[in-house]
Amino acid sequence: MTPLERALRERIQAEGPITVEAFMEACNAYYYATRDPFGVAGDFTTAPEISQMFGEIIGAALADCWKRAGAPPDAIYAELGPGRGTLAADALRVMRSAAFAGEAHFVETSPVLRDKQMQAVPDAHWHDSIEELPAKPLLLIANEFLDALPIRQHIEGIERKVVVVGGGLAFDRDGEIVETSPARDQAVDAIATCLVAKGGVAIFIDYGHERASAGDTLQAVGGHRFAPVLDKPGEQDLTSHVDFQALANAASDAGASVTPVVRQGEWLLRLGIGARAQALARVNSERADDVQAALERLTAGDQMGQLFKVIAIHSPDWPAPAGFA
Ligand code: SAH
Repeated sequence: MTPLERALRERIQAEGPITVEAFMEACNAYYYATRDPFGVAGDFTTAPEISQMFGEIIGAALADCWKRAGAPPDAIYAELGPGRGTLAADALRVMRSAAFAGEAHFVETSPVLRDKQMQAVPDAHWHDSIEELPAKPLLLIANEFLDALPIRQHIEGIERKVVVVGGGLAFDRDGEIVETSPARDQAVDAIATCLVAKGGVAIFIDYGHERASAGDTLQAVGGHRFAPVLDKPGEQDLTSHVDFQALANAASDAGASVTPVVRQGEWLLRLGIGARAQALARVNSERADDVQAALERLTAGDQMGQLFKVIAIHSPDWPAPAGFA
């Protein structure tokens, strides 16, 4: 039994069944607080860990938007859940060369990952929550952040819970599931409110669906494999598909402008990742095959190109970022 499973069983025995939302929140808080889960030796690999091109394209998109908004000097780079800090380091390198001199602010709760981020971007500023970000124009990116925030599941209008039966954890009911995520809505609302008040743009990249639909998308991943959701609580990553329609609604309810949702592959190609790959392969000819493989992994429809989606929200006073039209 994992340490978190013991704690959850005690909690359920004391308080009664806990919601899927409380279960997912407890599991992910423990999981991220206790490890660096990324890469071949870990549980899963994210886009910035595949290639520097990913962060560089994002940096170029943010810098372009900032310049077209008149290059406000008080704008800051902000990132939600920066992982190892790889994306931030790659994006900021490009943004610095485009004359962006603003601060970097990270929202991160994991002490282990904060240490890694400190090595990648030593002069960043760290925050526990979005609400603590400074009230300044934002150039914000969140890659695979929202999918880790907890969801609620309902079956015929009744919230699904986790119970202890026969010495193990189980769901209290099965049936057609409808998922919602107040935690994600609240995160998007907080960012959108800041964009409307102070200006800026926020890009969200995650796997998910363009339109809300019923179905169970909660999944667990460990050692690069899917596993049953209730197995080994706190020792595997719990995620669910991001509902981009709900995200867009939360942003526009707060008064922000919203771009269409585009597939990651299409978006990266429109922003010139093909040319970036060619340039990288030219200067490192011994790595040309690796660069080509990374390009395919990030953009191909049967890899990350199609399942992963991108949306931007921005201040109505700022131009929309490139790549969405
Ligand atoms: N963006 C990174 C990491 C994605 S994993 C990448 O693409 O590689 C999710 C990240 O969000 C981790 O850094 C994790 O510690 C952080 N995280 C998860 N839940 C969080 C929360 N509630 N508040 C702040 N950070 C959180």
